[in-house]
Amino acid sequence: MNHNTEHNMGAFVTGGNAAGGNMGKRPFVTKEKIEEIVKTYPTPFHIYDEKGIRENAQAVREAFAWNKGFKEYFAVKAAPNPYLIGILKEYGCGCDCSSLTELMLSKAVGLVGEDIMFSSNDTPAEEYAYAAKLGATINLDDITHIDFLEGILGKLPETISCRYNPGGVFQMSNGIMDNPGDAKYGFTTEQMFEGFRILMKKGVKKFGIHAFLASNTVTNEYYPMLAKQLFEVAVQLKKETGADIRFINLSGGVGIPYQPGQQGNDIRAIGEGVRKVYGEVLAPAGMGDVAIYTEMGRFMMGPYGELVTQVIHEKHTHKEYIGVDACAVNLMRPAMYGAYHHITALGKEEEPCEYRYDVTGSLCENNDKFAIDRMLPKLEIGDYLVIHDTGAHGFAMGYNYNGKLKSAELLLKEDGSVQLIRRAETPKDYFATFDGMDIYGELIGQFG
Ligand SMILES: *Cc1c(COP(=O)(O)O)cnc(C)c1O
Repeated sequence: MNHNTEHNMGAFVTGGNAAGGNMGKRPFVTKEKIEEIVKTYPTPFHIYDEKGIRENAQAVREAFAWNKGFKEYFAVKAAPNPYLIGILKEYGCGCDCSSLTELMLSKAVGLVGEDIMFSSNDTPAEEYAYAAKLGATINLDDITHIDFLEGILGKLPETISCRYNPGGVFQMSNGIMDNPGDAKYGFTTEQMFEGFRILMKKGVKKFGIHAFLASNTVTNEYYPMLAKQLFEVAVQLKKETGADIRFINLSGGVGIPYQPGQQGNDIRAIGEGVRKVYGEVLAPAGMGDVAIYTEMGRFMMGPYGELVTQVIHEKHTHKEYIGVDACAVNLMRPAMYGAYHHITALGKEEEPCEYRYDVTGSLCENNDKFAIDRMLPKLEIGDYLVIHDTGAHGFAMGYNYNGKLKSAELLLKEDGSVQLIRRAETPKDYFATFDGMDIYGELIGQFG
């Protein structure tokens, strides 16, 4: 529910796999390929696997093909790159946006109108105005936003979605998944009923229901359980308010196996699970034409991105450190959440993991560690490391602390060629916002 916060499952830095094996977590690039790529594009960079993205997007489409109106709205924040979103668009995906620039990006890719779900919170007036201008479907985060939006637009759109937060904890058979009661998002149950009535009075004709109750769930049960809860509320809402409910948006939260040996989600089983509860709850209530929407980010892109970095230092003090040329600016999740990202030393895939290292970046921040006490093969300066599963919430969360620059993004195409889909930042980019003071020009002038 807290999206960018990690819940407990699968979120730890220490440990790693025991000596001996990577247990099936293999990079999609080889040492030879990286040695060829770095001749043109120096490390660090994120690289994305076009083939993997396409196969997964196709599997998602097939898993929900039973639902006539199904649509995946890719959560732009996970990987805001027009080339990557352009690939997903070929599979019928739209965009889930929550800011002005995400809306602009979606428009640039040719996704407007019903291809945009605007699921934001604490929304500035100008962002609502722009979303409405693009014809996006607006997903309200709060009951007070009804009047706020009406004040901006004059008249509410014909279709409105409301984000639901039942409170409490989200619990499944294997324990508590997340804590919606602590999350800032959504309407309470009472507010959903009241909100629908107000919206109907104000002339809204078509309705949607949205909820995001648990993050990075690595179980096929999450969507079906969430769907059941939402379907039951939808049936009640229709019964009590008469609202014409057109779609139910299961949002994001479908996770990926960051840990080696962890069993990933089976999207077909998830689609089947949702189909089953749809048949049990919605169809008998005369709601068999409701469309299912999703807003997956992590599941669509996470495994298909890798951060490639080179070992530039080794340090032997109170611990054994491996210093790499990437840092938390390129991938924040380990520093921010203690999230586990698997690491493979290219060319050393078959070597036993007998050395215990902290793998660090160069920020003046002691949490700038991609791994703590990680068992790896013996590493040397010059080795290339692949940090796995950076395709979602990886590059995207980047920042510029210590004046560090964001890396390039590359696409490994299906034919094996490599396309630069975002160049690396330069000092000129970093200094570009000092209007009226040409720091970059000044430095160039002084130092050539
Ligand atoms: C972040 C977010 C998503 C995507 O979440 P994932 O965990 O990456 O699937 C979807 N919808 C909304 C509203 C979000 O904020």
